[in-house]
Amino acid sequence: MSLRLHNTLSKRVEEVVTREAGKAAIYVCGPTVYDVTHLGHMRAAVVFDVLRRYLEFRGYQVMHVQNVTDVEDKIIARAQAEGVPTDAITARYLEDYRQASRALNVMPPHVEPRASQHIPEMIEMIKKLVEGGYAYSAEGDVYFDVSRLPQYGKLSGQLPAELRAGARVEPGEHKRHPADFALWKRAKPGEPSWDGPWGRGRPGWHIECSAMSLKYLGMGFDIHGGGDDLIFPHHENEIAQSEAYAATQPFARYWVHNAMVMVRGEKMSKSLHNYIAVADALGRFPADVIRYALAAVHYRKPMEVDEARLQDAAKAVDRLRIALASAETILARAGGRGTDGPASRLLRKAAESARTAFTAAMDDDLNTSSGLAAVFELAAEMNRVTDQVLKGGTDATETTPGLREAREALRTITAILGLRLESAGDEDLARRVRDLAVSLRQEAAHLFSEPPGQTLDEIVTFILAGREQARATRDFATADRIRTRMAEAGILVEDLPTGPKWRIASTDGRRPTADASGPRA
Ligand SMILES: [Zn+2]
Repeated sequence: MSLRLHNTLSKRVEEVVTREAGKAAIYVCGPTVYDVTHLGHMRAAVVFDVLRRYLEFRGYQVMHVQNVTDVEDKIIARAQAEGVPTDAITARYLEDYRQASRALNVMPPHVEPRASQHIPEMIEMIKKLVEGGYAYSAEGDVYFDVSRLPQYGKLSGQLPAELRAGARVEPGEHKRHPADFALWKRAKPGEPSWDGPWGRGRPGWHIECSAMSLKYLGMGFDIHGGGDDLIFPHHENEIAQSEAYAATQPFARYWVHNAMVMVRGEKMSKSLHNYIAVADALGRFPADVIRYALAAVHYRKPMEVDEARLQDAAKAVDRLRIALASAETILARAGGRGTDGPASRLLRKAAESARTAFTAAMDDDLNTSSGLAAVFELAAEMNRVTDQVLKGGTDATETTPGLREAREALRTITAILGLRLESAGDEDLARRVRDLAVSLRQEAAHLFSEPPGQTLDEIVTFILAGREQARATRDFATADRIRTRMAEAGILVEDLPTGPKWRIASTDGRRPTADASGPRA
């Protein structure tokens, strides 16, 4: 079997045949950097990150280009409202977008072109479109004439004649037909502008994606991606400009669109003020949980992201983490020895079927939700076997090498979905404990004079020293409160005659507990 994807152009699920065998050239419409990054943006980022990881897993050499829109009406409006240069706005929100992407384990694109740095390329394109009769200038603006291109409307099904009836010309525009769209906009006072053959001005939004995708990927590249809210007019117009400019078809072979994140039935968006900023979500849930929630739903289905979904995602991520952690513990206990006994053979078979089922699901239009079902079957099988070992019914060595294969399969598959599993738990724990140290120091400065250290071990030692300080002055209420709050953060403290002993709490009852020094073998 090979990979099949839904192509918005044909409205069918098609087998993917790339322009060059073994290579995949992808262009994804990136962020307009004028406000904070929310979960709606990150769904698109995660969907195309999963597609990229899966293509790489399938052996493709991927070239991923994603633009940054840093010249746009909303950016200018925000800069004017704040009284700062547009650069200050774009720098701030591009960093916000990058931070959100890093946090959610989204790989940076290979090329991340910015509109403001590709003005000459856009001017060249517009010039050729005017020369070819596809565009016209009027009072310093330049418009694309949609009636000149017979294939206009092929992506969205919107036809020029119907558009002409429905659309209207805004005041200040000089279009011949309401459905025509701006390639170049005459400069207005106080706005960023560049010299062009039609006078000073700035490019329209659509032309940047044509100019930059053609520059880095060339005509007829493989996959053009973006949210389904971009199909019309943005992507329709990208096709029109590019195909008129190059005088060939197609601009892109496959058009892949992700559905929106919804909030009570409405699209999550800045303009509706119903969004959840990624930074806020990360304050409440580990990054893996948010990533899981966004990746677990098939990309063409609209999804609600609410408390219940994130809670479910947290449980799911925990199950996977437990399966991996238990496998690590058992493999450490077996110490490299193993007889390929019944338990081992069972796990090997489970690993094999999980790989097969996952690949089949992903080949079928990137069906992550049915792919995950295969993952959980494998995790359940692993947990069943490792539980038997932990309870003493089976010897650890009877489970290897099958357990090792199962662990590898689980790691490979979850990495395609972009889950970090093992490391993320530790990072989240470290952050919670660090936050606790900071607030304890604020609440009880007399107990905590020195600042805490950096590592988890140093910070826990720091908190425990403050707690001992409280006990020494017989302030047992405070000492107990500190212990409770440490438990809430994930650190369990036991008071032994030799002094307090601490360990990381298990994420649920089934997970083997680990000392700070690592899992017990
Ligand atoms: Zn675009």
